[in-house]
Amino acid sequence: MTEQLINLGYLVASILFILCLRGLSSPEQGKRGIFLGEVGMLIAVVATLFKMEIVRYDFIIAGLLIGATIGIAISARLPMTKMPERIAFSHAFGGLATSLVGVAEYMKLHEGLANGIVPSRLTIGALGFEVLLGSLTFTGSIMAFGKLQGLITGAPVTWKGQNVMNISAFFGAIAVLVYQVVFPDTAPAWMFYAMCATGFMLGILAVLPIGGADMPVVISLLNSYAGLAACATGFALKSNILIISGALDGSSGLLLSILMSRAMNRSFANVLFGAFGTADSTGVSPTGKAAVGKSYNEATLEDASAVLQASQSVIVIPGYGMAVSQAQHAVRDLAAALEKRGCEVKYAIHPVAGRMPGHMNVLLAEANVSYDVLYDLDMINDDFARADAVLVVGANDVVNPAAKTDKSSPIYGMPVFNVEASRSVIVLKRSMNTGFSGVENELFFHPNTMMVLGDAKKTLIGLFNAMKDGH
Ligand code: NAP
Repeated sequence: MTEQLINLGYLVASILFILCLRGLSSPEQGKRGIFLGEVGMLIAVVATLFKMEIVRYDFIIAGLLIGATIGIAISARLPMTKMPERIAFSHAFGGLATSLVGVAEYMKLHEGLANGIVPSRLTIGALGFEVLLGSLTFTGSIMAFGKLQGLITGAPVTWKGQNVMNISAFFGAIAVLVYQVVFPDTAPAWMFYAMCATGFMLGILAVLPIGGADMPVVISLLNSYAGLAACATGFALKSNILIISGALDGSSGLLLSILMSRAMNRSFANVLFGAFGTADSTGVSPTGKAAVGKSYNEATLEDASAVLQASQSVIVIPGYGMAVSQAQHAVRDLAAALEKRGCEVKYAIHPVAGRMPGHMNVLLAEANVSYDVLYDLDMINDDFARADAVLVVGANDVVNPAAKTDKSSPIYGMPVFNVEASRSVIVLKRSMNTGFSGVENELFFHPNTMMVLGDAKKTLIGLFNAMKDGH
């Protein structure tokens, strides 16, 4: 009876996990999706606590208390902009946990082997897979966290023969695993631990050559590895809920990584092995400095304010700079002031604006900007030709016309906004420096573009005040 109730709990939890993922596919449904996922996880944990195999609860309660304390502390202290770091950190714990569970299970099997009980090939294969991916996820996520946090250099660290070395180490570990699966009775224990050590080492080596700004794709991929490791744990422990939730996590993480790479118009292999951000891969200096000597229209706050006040329709394009400057509330205030004057304000959201999926949506939601005025690239691209003014807030690559026109550009083919079609463009950024891709932006030198240089938040507050004072 208890076992049946546990399985029913797992079934409900699995359905809630699927509904959670479905909810996360749109910003409006996101909060509800997260809530359903939380309820699903609570049901899965409570159902597991009724398992016959559990003989004492003290360690479990201690673990729950420590984990919950760390989780609450991290969530309360970390700002929204540090979300990729937080996710990297929690994946590291997930990877370590699966790896440790795998090692503990293997030790039990090894003891059994001494008593003549030969483990099944499926169990050994699942455990090996779990430990290899779990340990790789642990060190890989710690590296991603270090790169995002600036504790390790964000620049790709490369050397000759690096990819060959990493791929050889990975296939070496797989060969060792295959040997253990084929000879479960005679394979020595050191093989299992060597494979585990290779996983830890590979997590470090595989992330070293990837640039800091590509870390969101790496984190999403490591998320998928953690899911696959959990799925393998499910096979080893004969737990249906782990198999289902691990498979959901593994496949959604992989899909997200592929979609992110596609939205940047880069192949998955280019993200993982291309060392993007070095002079070799982009053909430009990694310092991010734009070419000097070209002329551009540097405008004052008053000039920009006058253009906005004369506009009936304005499209705001937020980018990574809005996140850096935390300008989302100032954008909302300026938009509200414009709307009060009868101007229509829309927000154009690029799928890879910022540094993580949904980055702009999260920040604008935090500032209580309504979902109704947020438009995806496909929905708004034709509106630029009819807009009186476009306000670019710390965006660069996502408004670079070279993505449409310059075949030699590393961002060629990435879908970008048709900003240059609008009557006036006001760009808020601190300097003429390049963005993530290191590519110069021709838009900044167009005759109808005004550059208002300075921190985006300060400039927006200045524009708001200038409008209030009637300048
Ligand atoms: P971007 O091309 O990186 O440009 C951001 C601009 O913000 C910079 O040119 C910078 O110029 C400006 N900026 C920085 N701090 C600022 C501040 N305090 N005030 C005002 N401006 C500031 O950003 P994007 O247009 O959002 O494009 C995103 C890029 O990241 C794409 O190339 C995308 O492929 C890549 N990417 C995205 C994701 C994702 O999931 N969203 C993941 C990985 C990579 P100054 O230094 O002159 O101020």
